[in-house]
Amino acid sequence: MSNKKPRVLVFEFHQESNTFNPKIEPIERFNPQMIFEGEECFKSRVDLLGVGSGSIKALWERGAEVIPSVFMHAASGGRVDDQVLSHLTERLEHHIKAAGELDGIVATLHGATCTESCDDACGVLMERIRALVGEKVVIAAAFDLHANITERMIKSVDIICGYNTYPHIDHFKTGHRASTLCMDLLEGKKHQMAIAEIPMLIPPAGYTDKEGAFKVLMDRAKEMVAQGKIADFTIFPVQPWLDIPEITSRVVTIGEDAEQAKQCADILAKGLFDLRDEAWPDLVDVDKIIDIAEENQSGKPVILADSADSPNGGCVGDSPVVAMRLQERGSKLRACMFVVDPVSVKKAFEIGVGKKGEFSIGAGYTAGMPGPFKGEGMVRSLHDGYFRTYKSGTGYLGLSAVVNFGNIDILLCEQGSNSGSPFIYRQFGMEPSFYDLVVVKANTSFRAPYSVISDLIYVADTPGAGASNLKLFQWKNLPKGLYPFDLPEGYQPDQAKIK
Ligand SMILES: [Zn+2]
Repeated sequence: MSNKKPRVLVFEFHQESNTFNPKIEPIERFNPQMIFEGEECFKSRVDLLGVGSGSIKALWERGAEVIPSVFMHAASGGRVDDQVLSHLTERLEHHIKAAGELDGIVATLHGATCTESCDDACGVLMERIRALVGEKVVIAAAFDLHANITERMIKSVDIICGYNTYPHIDHFKTGHRASTLCMDLLEGKKHQMAIAEIPMLIPPAGYTDKEGAFKVLMDRAKEMVAQGKIADFTIFPVQPWLDIPEITSRVVTIGEDAEQAKQCADILAKGLFDLRDEAWPDLVDVDKIIDIAEENQSGKPVILADSADSPNGGCVGDSPVVAMRLQERGSKLRACMFVVDPVSVKKAFEIGVGKKGEFSIGAGYTAGMPGPFKGEGMVRSLHDGYFRTYKSGTGYLGLSAVVNFGNIDILLCEQGSNSGSPFIYRQFGMEPSFYDLVVVKANTSFRAPYSVISDLIYVADTPGAGASNLKLFQWKNLPKGLYPFDLPEGYQPDQAKIK
């Protein structure tokens, strides 16, 4: 490479899709605080700890000229409108053409994004970009740990890396890794990827890098990096609520010694495959959790994780199941939860603060969801729906209302967001530690912030688009030979392939 600064274009496209969520997410879901172009990308990202910030900072540190293009970010949900992908592709093509000669591209993606008519939005996008810039440009991509790494992506991209934490707290570091590996290639290093396929789906509520078999596997992979066998690794247990023909878990290792990278990928793939039967959460009946809360004398609230309706997992968040059960039992527990229900939000605004009205809440979207919850509620407060979270800036619920039904407070919102954070309640005047029972619609992200409030945490056996019992769903499009459905007996993962 000559002495001139390498020119690297960056872009971001983040949305996790759940194909059991029937809502099509319009481009407005990428709300104005989450779509940026050109220099605005820098302003939006560099002070934060996100994956895009990490990618930009690493490129600056290595002396690259960074060319910002398009940053689009939405909360998890259903499939996105086709218009989202066509808009992004059109804007990216514009920025790539306007940029002139490029040496590299660093993309920060979710990697499990479906549109109405495309099951592999990120793969199609990367294929298009590769066709546009040719083979000489280095393309690196950072993904979510739950990405569905497809053949299209593997063909189109030189570097694949993803989060190494779950709950995800290494966004910045992951963007930094992708850019660092991109710069390594531009400076002449001969990194190669080894990619193994593990045809299995496991529920995210069943594993974490903080403990158990998944932690042991992660530690083993980190040791491989520490020993210098590989430069980078990612274990991708795919987001399982995608009823599509190309879906698989994968392991990717990266190193200059291709044979060594392949050996490491094979070991990690076997390790991921071997933990499959352990990666299922212990689900507790809702009534059992209510019993525990009613007997609880600790002064701490009981946390009921309704993972099956987690907006972080792409669900709508429209389950009123726990409120219904409390009402049916005549329970006096002070409980809080949020329910996505735009019609009831509108009604709360019409009724006004301090006034009462009849409500019919939830079960508006998810197929087979019991409900609605009915009752006379007092409107306590009305909100624009923006809230701050620990690190990742703001969350957005759309217009929102807190409505009180005696001992039950329900935060009604137009859409779900950052659902594992206690701030989803706090910033709307509901302090989780003041309740007897707190419903948290999240898989794993809630554990760190909620463990400060209470150690009485139970994952409930509830219905929803993100149910951990994967066998409950009516699958129509999955490939053959996939755990936990029809994997042939005695199956072992194929050897990793080098790219
Ligand atoms: Zn994830």
